[in-house]
Amino acid sequence: MITTKSYAAQTKETPLAPWNFDRREVGPHDVQFDITFCGVCHSDLHQIRDEWGGSIFPMVPGHEIVGRVVAVGDQVTKFKIGDLAGTGCMVDSCRICDNCQHGLEQYCSNGNTLTYNSLEQDKKTPTYGGYSNTIVVNEDFVLHISDKLDLAATAPLLCAGITTYSPLRHWKVGKGHKLAVLGLGGLGHMGVKFGVAFGAEVTVLSTSPKKEEDARKLGAHKFVVTSDPAQLEAVTGYFDFILDTVSAEHDYNQYLTLLKSDGVHICVGAPPTPSSLLAFSLIPGRKSIAGSSIGGIAETQEMLDFCAEHNIVSDIELTDIKDIDAAYERMLKGDVRYRFVIDMATL
Ligand code: NAP
Ligand code: ZN
Ligand code: ZN
Repeated sequence: MITTKSYAAQTKETPLAPWNFDRREVGPHDVQFDITFCGVCHSDLHQIRDEWGGSIFPMVPGHEIVGRVVAVGDQVTKFKIGDLAGTGCMVDSCRICDNCQHGLEQYCSNGNTLTYNSLEQDKKTPTYGGYSNTIVVNEDFVLHISDKLDLAATAPLLCAGITTYSPLRHWKVGKGHKLAVLGLGGLGHMGVKFGVAFGAEVTVLSTSPKKEEDARKLGAHKFVVTSDPAQLEAVTGYFDFILDTVSAEHDYNQYLTLLKSDGVHICVGAPPTPSSLLAFSLIPGRKSIAGSSIGGIAETQEMLDFCAEHNIVSDIELTDIKDIDAAYERMLKGDVRYRFVIDMATL
C-alpha cells in the first residue's frame, strides 16, 4: 500500500486536520501522480458538512487535482513517468451502461465512482480526494494537462471548468445568444470566460456590487446587481440562457422572469435545500429549467485542450492547506477571487 498524507474531516462537525491513510498499489492500468495543486470547490464544503446527506467519513476532499506522474502500471499506454496529469470529480464508472458507452460517465446508470466521498466500483472501498500528497487513478480517468498554462491556475478547470463548459456546449451557447451567469464564484467566473470565448453576450447577475470591475475584466459585457429591483427589471425577458452557479437557496421563479421565450435556466449550483417552483414561471414563454453535472472524461480533455489553445485558466488565490478553514469562510461569504487553490507543498 502507499502511505498517503492528507487533510481530512473525521466527522461533519470537526475541522479538517492532518490524517494518514493507505492508497492501493499501482495496478496494471493505474497511474500514480504526486499532487502539486488542488482547487477548493464549494462542493467540498457541502460534503464535509454533510449538507447533501450520505457523507462518508473520514473524508479527504478535493477534486480539482493536478500533479506529475511518478509511477505507471505495466499496461498503461496513455501516460509515462514525469508527465503532467490531472483528475477531476470522477475516478471510475461502470464502463458498460448506455451513458458510459456514450462518454457520459458523469451520468453512469450503475453509479460512477467519485474522487472522494464515494465508493470504488467494488461498492465497498471508500475513495479519498486531492487534499493529499499523491493519488492512484485508473488511466482512463486521468487527464493530460498542458505545460503551456500555469499549473496552479489549471487545477480548477477539472471541476469549475468542465461544469460550466459542458452545459454551454450541450446547449450550443454562442454567437447571437444572450447568456446570464448567475453568481460570480469559482464556477461563475469560468462560465463567464467560456461564454465570452464561445461568442455569447455575457451578463453577470451578482449579489456583490464590488465584483463589477472584475466581471468586466473577465470579459462580461454587462453586470446586474440582483438586489436592485430596477436593474433586474431592465433585463426582464432578455436572456436566452441563465447559467445558475449559486450554492445557496434562491428563488428560481424570480430569475425565470429574465428569460426570453424558449429560454433555458441551467442549474449547476447545487443548494442543499429544496426550492418551490411555480409552473406559471415556465408556462408563459415555454421556458425550461434544467440541470447539468460536470462533464464526461472525453469532454473534460476537450475542455482542457480548448483552454490550452485559447490560454484560459482560472483566476486563483493560492492558499496554504493550514489556512483551509479561513478559505472556506471566505468562500461562504462569496469572497473568493475567484478560486482558492491549495499549494500541496504546504501539506
Ligand atoms: P462559490 O465559489 O462559493 O460561488 C458561488 C457564488 O454564488 C458566490 O460567489 C455568490 O456570487 C453566489 N451566491 C452565494 N450565495 C448566494 C445566495 N444566497 N444568493 C445568491 N447568490 C449567492 O461556489 P462554486 O465552487 O462556484 O460552486 C457553486 C455551486 O455549484 C455549489 O453549490 C457547488 O456544490 C455546485 N457545483 C456543482 C457542480 C455540478 O456538476 N453541477 C460542480 C461543481 C460545483 P455573487 O457574489 O456574485 O452573488
Ligand atoms: Zn467541484
Ligand atoms: Zn456506467
